[in-house]
Amino acid sequence: MKAILVRQFGGPEVMLFDETPTPKPAAGQVLVKIRAAGVNPADTYARSGNYAVLPQLPYSPGTDGAGVVDSVGDGVKKVKPGDRVYLAKSLSGTYAEYALALESQVHRLPEKVSFAQGAGVFVPYGTAYHALHHQAKARGGETVLIHGASGGVGIAAVQMARALGLTVFGTAGSAKGLELIQREGAQRAFDHTKPDYCDEILKATGGRGADIILEMLANVNLGNDLKLLAPMGRVVVIGSRGDVTITPRDIMARRASILAFTLWATTEAEGTDIHAGLIAGLENGTLRPVVGTELPLKDAPQAHIDVMKPSGAFGKIVLIP
Ligand code: NAP
Repeated sequence: MKAILVRQFGGPEVMLFDETPTPKPAAGQVLVKIRAAGVNPADTYARSGNYAVLPQLPYSPGTDGAGVVDSVGDGVKKVKPGDRVYLAKSLSGTYAEYALALESQVHRLPEKVSFAQGAGVFVPYGTAYHALHHQAKARGGETVLIHGASGGVGIAAVQMARALGLTVFGTAGSAKGLELIQREGAQRAFDHTKPDYCDEILKATGGRGADIILEMLANVNLGNDLKLLAPMGRVVVIGSRGDVTITPRDIMARRASILAFTLWATTEAEGTDIHAGLIAGLENGTLRPVVGTELPLKDAPQAHIDVMKPSGAFGKIVLIP
């Protein structure tokens, strides 16, 4: 099969489009014919060799993907050849024509969701679900600020929070992004490139602040987030790319909390909850993954450059084998 192979850590150019043997499913494993692979910022951190969890070289990148079950190993009961599935991690990587996965890593993809959309389910929607439900314990009627709402995780969080009955504020850095997040459910959209946008957000809450903030770029925003929180407010740190200075008294005065997590460390019980919630939302149309760009698999190096651009996100980037 054709696949992207990384033989040494480094820049996007270390990803080579090459031939590799098609894997065969052993007992408890599933082989999926990949129709689309999702590109996430974490794929670039791993490829660069500078990340907490590193794959063994050589490897094919990719945690997210969607396709059709090709064949299954002994004992597999959850799926059969021909089933449409999305992947939540795999054994062999999703940037390939086929991916080998454990039975527990494949999940039913509802008919109304395209393969390209299915490639943007697990990391973005799983992260948004875990942040809102398990970390922030969001309740209907609360106000959430999604700080970085135009990207993969942000759009997922906008749709999910709106369906839960929260008042949703989102930020983006382009006119296209601002329009997108309002279309997907944000009642108010703010431009995070404008110098006074934090004042505008506080004003929009009537001076009270947001109950929950989902933060995509904590190294830039965490200090300001603490000043935008309501009493008993919770900031959930989802993304960060460096250090930041905060004023602890902002937390004390509000009895606020800073929460943080990585999706890789969620428990099995949380995973069961996450996938049940995501499949229900995909089925009933409250969750609608937005695909911004489709590229051929061989263009994975370009996709890694694009996903790390500092601004201009507009849904997911997916690779088509
Ligand atoms: P993405 O699709 O590339 O989106 C990035 C988002 O950040 C866009 O909405 C972008 O808005 C926004 N942004 C840019 N500058 C900003 C600023 N100054 N303030 C606030 N937001 C800003 O990435 P993603 O997949 O949504 O992931 C977002 C972050 O979460 C990444 O750092 C990723 O590594 C991390 N993440 C963590 C976990 C976890 O397990 N904790 C899981 C998934 C992702 P514009 O482009 O419109 O400016």
